[in-house]
Amino acid sequence: MVETLKAVGRAIYARLSQDRGRMSENVDIQIADGQDYFADQGWLIDERLIFSDNDISASIFSDKERPGWLDLLAAIRAGLVQLVVVTEVARLCRNLADAMELIALTKETTFTTVELTNGVRYNLTTVQGYHDFLKAVLDASGESGKSSVRLKRRKRARAKEGYYNGGSRPYGYRKPEGGATGTLEVAESEAAIIRELVERLLAGEMVMPLVAELNDRKVPTAAGGRWWPTTVMKLVTSPRIKGVRSHLGTEYPATWPAIISPEEFERLQVVLSDNMRQLNTGRRYTRRSYLLTGLIECGALGADGKPCGAKLHPGATKVQREEAPRRRYRCFKFDSTGQPHGCGKVFRLAGPVELAVSEAVLTAYEGEDLAALIAPDAPEELHELAATLGEDKKRLEQASRDRYWRRGDPLRLEEGQFLAIQAEIKDAMSAVQRRMARLEQGRALAAIPPGMNLRQAWDAADLGWRQTILSLVVVKVILYPGYPGRRVWPADDSPLFERAKALGGPWCFDPSKVDIQWKL
Ligand SMILES: [Zn+2]
Repeated sequence: MVETLKAVGRAIYARLSQDRGRMSENVDIQIADGQDYFADQGWLIDERLIFSDNDISASIFSDKERPGWLDLLAAIRAGLVQLVVVTEVARLCRNLADAMELIALTKETTFTTVELTNGVRYNLTTVQGYHDFLKAVLDASGESGKSSVRLKRRKRARAKEGYYNGGSRPYGYRKPEGGATGTLEVAESEAAIIRELVERLLAGEMVMPLVAELNDRKVPTAAGGRWWPTTVMKLVTSPRIKGVRSHLGTEYPATWPAIISPEEFERLQVVLSDNMRQLNTGRRYTRRSYLLTGLIECGALGADGKPCGAKLHPGATKVQREEAPRRRYRCFKFDSTGQPHGCGKVFRLAGPVELAVSEAVLTAYEGEDLAALIAPDAPEELHELAATLGEDKKRLEQASRDRYWRRGDPLRLEEGQFLAIQAEIKDAMSAVQRRMARLEQGRALAAIPPGMNLRQAWDAADLGWRQTILSLVVVKVILYPGYPGRRVWPADDSPLFERAKALGGPWCFDPSKVDIQWKL
């Protein structure tokens, strides 16, 4: 079904009408909706297959004023159309007679499907599709004027003019007193909170502690309640705060002022895509409490003499005679979906491994200016990269607009040209984003408080910061199998002894079974 659809024509039909005293959206808006829908689906638009009518003055029983409808039927009869896209069923069929005429054509031609721009699809050659479509036509012709589809489309028309969609008040803004609906003004005290959040997130702070702090400071949300990680994430990822109205993935200049610059917004989204992992709840969140998650792998040799190489799975497990589960890294033979994963030979307490790796990192970079080592020119370069990213986005939007075929328009892009340009811009953008992500990570290092060295900062920092540092200097940690026997680590005269004691050590552990591969 999908395969055949690819090869044949898809049409757009639009109709301006006054049904039961209600005026439809104008034909251009309907066609633009149809074109957006084609773009969303990745379909080609054949300009010859766009049909429209203006039948405001026509009698409902007459086709005299509906040349577009007659052309559509002719195109279907000629075998050019398999699918018609409309914004609403009522635009296509005014009544049951229209619907029956369309359905009859499915018996004689390749025409099968009516699809709405909200994604609803009626395959008229199936019993279900046929019934659903007739019901929709009946509902539409007797409708009261409050369909959700139409509301959605009104919203989009308003979005294009940059108006606020209504609903509850967004944080950072308020509706102007006695002012026009559809616009917003800045609520300065809340805007200050937004700027503070953005600045601190850009400086490498994590979402969770910020949320806790907002609640501690009793900063109210827009609704007056508590902050949650999702409240903060929604707030700082909404293009609203850079003065942009977005609707279904498309952005329009808004009627309200920006709170942060588009450049800060771009940088923030890069930082957050990394930070976002922190928000994962449940098992993944527990795994996050293991310093070496994702970095540590199994070094056991297989029968073929090659190392296992499977990522070790962190988790608390209890072995015989232990009273409570203890944190461990483990090579599993199977992953959670039952697929073969590793050799199952390596199984080690997490505490001593983490202490050994931390100590190695601190020793290796003691006295080094890590920030300068990793990202010496970060601030200036970030500034430029953010600007580049903004420009690339504009180019991409322009190309998307030029893609639509309009008769005689010298700026139109052929599909192949568009795809080539799109691929090129997207490649450039992802390269910029990768570079920004690396630089932003480097900036986390610059966040070492003045007067502290790496070791002091490490002790004071949260796990996320330590993991960032590790990922910057370590390629991976390999854990080899082996039984420590009665060997105790660290020894009681070691400078690590007190630290180990605080972590539940010392342990039966052999640090020579831990191998670190360095990046720098
Ligand atoms: Zn293994």
